Amino acid sequence: MVDLRSQYDKIKTEVDAGIQEVIDSASFIKGEKINIFQRDMEAYLNVKHVIPVGNGTDALQIALMALGLKPGDEVITPTFTFIATAEVVALLGLTPVLVDVDFDTFNISLESLKKAITSKTKAIVPVHLFGQNADMEGILALAKENNLYVIEDACQSIGSSYTFSDGRKFHTGCMGDIGCTSFFPSKNLGCFGDGGAIFTNNDALAAKMWAISNHGMVVRYHNDEVGVNSRLDSIQAAVLEVKLKHLDEYCANRQAAAKYYNTAFAGNNKIITPMQMPDSTHVFHQYTLKLVDVDRAGLIRYLADKGIPAMVYYPIPLHLQKAYQDARYKAGDFPVAEKLCDCVISLPMHTELDSEQLEYITKSVLEFVR
Ligand SMILES: *Cc1c(COP(=O)(O)O)cnc(C)c1O
Repeated sequence: MVDLRSQYDKIKTEVDAGIQEVIDSASFIKGEKINIFQRDMEAYLNVKHVIPVGNGTDALQIALMALGLKPGDEVITPTFTFIATAEVVALLGLTPVLVDVDFDTFNISLESLKKAITSKTKAIVPVHLFGQNADMEGILALAKENNLYVIEDACQSIGSSYTFSDGRKFHTGCMGDIGCTSFFPSKNLGCFGDGGAIFTNNDALAAKMWAISNHGMVVRYHNDEVGVNSRLDSIQAAVLEVKLKHLDEYCANRQAAAKYYNTAFAGNNKIITPMQMPDSTHVFHQYTLKLVDVDRAGLIRYLADKGIPAMVYYPIPLHLQKAYQDARYKAGDFPVAEKLCDCVISLPMHTELDSEQLEYITKSVLEFVR
């Protein structure tokens, strides 16, 4: 699904030198590499504050902690996504409220979102799934109307941008009150282990999140609030400093691969290729097809026999996950998400796909899906 080894080979000299620098400096936590990466990332995103943290899940948790919510407060998030969002909401004693998604975009449905807002709702966590931004114009308007915080889960969308109808253009994660991303190795900007970051233009929230990520300390050993221990390692910052310079090129490579796939599958009426929305760029963290009347398990086996990996992101929506059984939800409540879980398939997508591989993959898919 990914080829991190070939990607590394192209930047090995620079990355190795950066890692060696950290080792020589023995400054493994905080230190100059963190400062450099933080500033580079702020400049890239055109955002006031980037707070590097331990991983994307922690980024979401720290963001929610900074809002000062109380047990019982409701946080709305889509049911078709990775588990992290609902997980941190539940861990903090807040109430996750799940909503359905749009069939075309895989992203949170504005209609479903509208219906889910109550007097207890405090925040919305849209997920920019598979690398395309959710309908931020609609979401931010609803949030403003109802006085809600918006925390963007940009773990899959780093490198993408969104344009509002008045022409203003923003990087993903920089439109709501807070944005969160992950540097998990297979993400679009991945490091060599776990890593993550939080973005905000709000000074007060930034100060609070810096403190929370470091035990609630502003002055050392003065703990002003309950925090966590979640920092990005300097070695990871050294890797990211190099890879950030290549991020736009990495996105372009993914887009080129997606274009190849789209063209190859265009004539097949059993394959629905990803819809590209006009307001957002798509950086294809995943290239996800919807199959119409196709034996998906059979296709996955057929491809596996030919040495081609394919994955189902995601097979089970959050409201049907065992750990999240909840009297409020049952099968059938979110028909779009449930339908997607049954028909989606993701093909290999990374920065190193060449035309020979793409031809082999598409040819193989089309042999099975006639
Ligand atoms: C990867 C991911 C996360 C979690 O990031 P980690 O760094 O693995 O903790 C959260 N949300 C989404 C949508 C993700 O894809």
